Amino acid sequence: MEAVLIAKNMGIAYWKEKSGKMAKNHEGHAVKCVIVTCMSPYIDPVDIFDLESGEAYVIRSGGNLVTAETIRCIILAMMNDPITDVIVLGHTRCTNANQSILDKNHAKLLEKIPHQSKLSELLATREKATKYFGIFKNEIDNVLVQVCNLSILKIIKPGVNITGMLYNTASGLVYDMAEITELKAKIDKNPGMHIEEFVPSRYTDFLNSQGVPASEPSPARPPVGNADVPMALEPMEGQEDLQGKMQAAGDGFDLMMKAMQKTITKAGQARVSIPKIRLPGIRAPRPPRALPETQ
Ligand SMILES: [Zn+2]
Repeated sequence: MEAVLIAKNMGIAYWKEKSGKMAKNHEGHAVKCVIVTCMSPYIDPVDIFDLESGEAYVIRSGGNLVTAETIRCIILAMMNDPITDVIVLGHTRCTNANQSILDKNHAKLLEKIPHQSKLSELLATREKATKYFGIFKNEIDNVLVQVCNLSILKIIKPGVNITGMLYNTASGLVYDMAEITELKAKIDKNPGMHIEEFVPSRYTDFLNSQGVPASEPSPARPPVGNADVPMALEPMEGQEDLQGKMQAAGDGFDLMMKAMQKTITKAGQARVSIPKIRLPGIRAPRPPRALPETQ
């Protein structure tokens, strides 16, 4: 795979040079947007929003979860650039909303991790592992929770706009915050409705303006990603020796986990001052009271 990537890079570098599209000098360029999205290989904000190079910072994590690391990156971006907007971009069919993936792999995963290490402790039960991986029940509620988790940034930059969006992987459409709320209300009323069936009225209006009959909304694209449970981890047969070596390396492994835990705990303490509210059907920290604009 490495050779394939290098060859592809060579081709694109040559093409850019020939077509005068070499990477621009970013001096004096101001980035205003941060997008927090999922690590899914099928979710590419550059493609989804037709972004130019240097138009937005993109921070990825499994399930577009806001972690201590996300906050660190956004604060860094804020120190570098006049950030005006921070957007959580969730997506339908997210692996992080699929508990069965964890259920299928959990036992085998535990076998592979050095026993009595911090990680094996964090993954000891199904409940603990679910919490560790941040598995959520649905993508809509998760976007709302992660938007709330970002509200801590208002302390640093009161005027920053923090919002959420949801990408429909079947149609390629993105729902904005108002549409996410509308969609949530529709699904609450009609639990049989699937998120991806929702077509915002602005899009039907757009199709009408293009002369496409309203009865034929977007040309349905095939779903991307693997919605089914993927192949489970390989069994441990023949790997006893590896397990022994990992056990021997357990000290180093634990040190790494301790360092990670320390960072998370520090971030957790920073969050304590944020009061909590309950969004419909979910738990979430509340945005801080409106702070006066500093500028
Ligand atoms: Zn995802």
